[in-house]
Amino acid sequence: MARIADEQIERIRRGVSIGELVRSAGIELRRHGTNGDRAGQCPFHEDDETPSLVISEAKGLWHCFGCGRAGNAFQWVMETRGVGFREAVVELMAGIGTAQADSSPAPSCASTSCPLDVGMTDGELIEAVVDYYQESLKGKR
Ligand SMILES: [Zn+2]
Repeated sequence: MARIADEQIERIRRGVSIGELVRSAGIELRRHGTNGDRAGQCPFHEDDETPSLVISEAKGLWHCFGCGRAGNAFQWVMETRGVGFREAVVELMAGIGTAQADSSPAPSCASTSCPLDVGMTDGELIEAVVDYYQESLKGKR
C-alpha cells in the first residue's frame, strides 16, 4: 500500500506546477539564476525585501533562504493554507488541470459527492482521491 501511495503522490506532484501554485498564492515570480529557477517574496516571514523564496520548477521544490522553510507542492499547500497532508493532497488533485484555466479557487471536495473518509490512512485516502478524480474525469455522464 505504501508503494501505491508513493506512486500516486509522485503522480500528483508531477501534475502540479510549483510555479503556478506559488503564483496562485499571489506571489510574483522573477527569473532567478540560469537554470530556470524563479524567485519571489516569501509569504512566511516578514519584510522579505529581497525575494528569498526560490522555486525550482524542474525539481518541483521551493525553498526560502530567509526563514528556511522548504518543501514540495504538498508542503506548500500545507504551509500556505494551514492544512494537513490529506487536505493538501485533495487540494492538489482538485487543482490539476484547472490551475491554468482561471484564478478561481480549486473546487473543494465538500461540494461534490466526496468518497473520502476521515478514518482512512494516507495511502487509502490517496487511492480514493485518485480513483474519484479518474472516474469524474473519464465519466462525466
Ligand atoms: Zn521565508
